Amino acid sequence: MLRVEHVTKSFGGVVANKDISFTFEEGQIVGLIGPNGAGKSTLFNMISAIFPPTEGNIFFKDHQLNDLSTHEIVRLGISRTFQNLQVFKNMTVVENVMLGQHIHSKTGLLSAAFRWPSVRREDERAYEKAMGCLAFVGLDHLYKVKAGNLALGNLRLLELARALATEPQLLLLDEIAAGLNQKETRDMRELIKKIRDSGVSVFVVEHDMDLVMTICDKVIVLDQGEKIAEGTPKEIQNHPRVIEAYLGA
Ligand code: ADP
Ligand code: MG
Repeated sequence: MLRVEHVTKSFGGVVANKDISFTFEEGQIVGLIGPNGAGKSTLFNMISAIFPPTEGNIFFKDHQLNDLSTHEIVRLGISRTFQNLQVFKNMTVVENVMLGQHIHSKTGLLSAAFRWPSVRREDERAYEKAMGCLAFVGLDHLYKVKAGNLALGNLRLLELARALATEPQLLLLDEIAAGLNQKETRDMRELIKKIRDSGVSVFVVEHDMDLVMTICDKVIVLDQGEKIAEGTPKEIQNHPRVIEAYLGA
């Protein structure tokens, strides 16, 4: 489904991703782990076309992604959440999810926000779909609440609902469980599995090792921009280079 081939990303002197290659099979949950600064978000940013690789190629179902725009990526079936939450605090929960669907269009989220009144009149179906996504993540009862009034756990669910509203085939979750308490983390784990079971492949960047080890079919480990290991959770746990990277030896 996804093929990353010899991808390197440099920011001036900083090599954030160095010659990374792997494939991602459809229907899986794949984990992307590594210490802070390892290059995880950078890789997600390239897969979601925030910026292109400096070298190498990324393919999604045989479409080369390097030169596509972010809304073309969404149209192809890739959606994501961000490590730093990106919600419109003065809009309601359901309005935020509806805006997500308009990422498809023209210049994206921000312009959709500005032409909001006309969007609202245009699109009854978007409302129904947004409510469906909110129900899926268990947030439909808060649909009228201003996003700015949500607690962190619910904000994460809102981001997730918004990403799902574009009907992705591949969903990238960048630290979706960061800052969540134990119960919220457990619920998030079940939700990610439910998303996978509904036919969406999920790529997760996550620091909660318990979550990664219990839900991932495969784990890719980055350290200082390089892929140092790839395998099943069990293989990764016992991998000498992974242990070394995490213990800072
Ligand atoms: P992670 O998500 O694994 O914590 P990142 O991908 O965010 O790591 O960052 C990897 C490295 O790339 C870091 O040294 C970071 O400072 C650098 N970096 C990431 N994005 C940018 C950017 N847009 N401009 C300059 N440097 C960046
Ligand atoms: Mg990151």
